[in-house]
Amino acid sequence: MITGGCLCGAVRYVSRLAPRDAGYCHCRICRRVSGAPVSVWASFPVEAFCYTQGAPDIFKSSGHGQREFCGACGSQLAFRDTTNGESVDVNIGTLDKPGQIKPESHIWTESQLEWFEITDGLPRHKQDIPTSDEV
Ligand SMILES: [Zn+2]
Ligand SMILES: [Zn+2]
Repeated sequence: MITGGCLCGAVRYVSRLAPRDAGYCHCRICRRVSGAPVSVWASFPVEAFCYTQGAPDIFKSSGHGQREFCGACGSQLAFRDTTNGESVDVNIGTLDKPGQIKPESHIWTESQLEWFEITDGLPRHKQDIPTSDEV
């Protein structure tokens, strides 16, 4: 079980499966919504993820996605693609043990801040991770 929640404790979640994927996102929407130069997410299978306490507020951040956050303290908890619905991308900083899940790539580096230097050797994608049929 992987658990987490917001800063004030009103909203809590759990995933009973490990994430499929984890990485850094440099896109402009993540930057604006988090207030940080880059966000770090872990992608959990949607069927394994649920809220166990409280319920997040929802903001539709694009035509295909929504942001889920605590309406009381403002913590950004997750991004959910509302068109394919296969996974929920949880902000790693809201996990109870964020050190246990390591980012594996960088996405949307075309929007990376000019002063933000990537010094790891992880794969970098200008946009999203290509799906297998695009490779
Ligand atoms: Zn909260
Ligand atoms: Zn993003």
